Amino acid sequence: MLIPGPGGRLTLCVSSQVGCASGCGFCLTGSGGLVRNLTVPEIVNQVFAARNIVGEKTISNIVLMGTGEPLSNYDAVTAFIEIATDRNGIGLSPRKVTLSTCGLAP
Ligand code: SF4
Repeated sequence: MLIPGPGGRLTLCVSSQVGCASGCGFCLTGSGGLVRNLTVPEIVNQVFAARNIVGEKTISNIVLMGTGEPLSNYDAVTAFIEIATDRNGIGLSPRKVTLSTCGLAP
């Protein structure tokens, strides 16, 4: 999902799992349970697929708030964040990458 914002901001909402085990009461995704974790390439490819859709427009921000609880797929998600914020990778500022959790962090 692409979320437009003020000042030309364009935020991509990225998924980290197929389904989700967290079961938040308001969320239909959670009602189906977890199928599997996404791999690092599957998470990264969401950015490239979105870039193909928006063409010349720049994705300015990423939020890990799509399907899945990101901290349940910790290793792949942290590897994705490293790629997203590496100047030789996707190249976003760390301030432009947000992780949304339902509360797994200790
Ligand atoms: S963590 Fe996110 S995807 Fe999972 S059930 Fe809660 S709101 Fe839905």
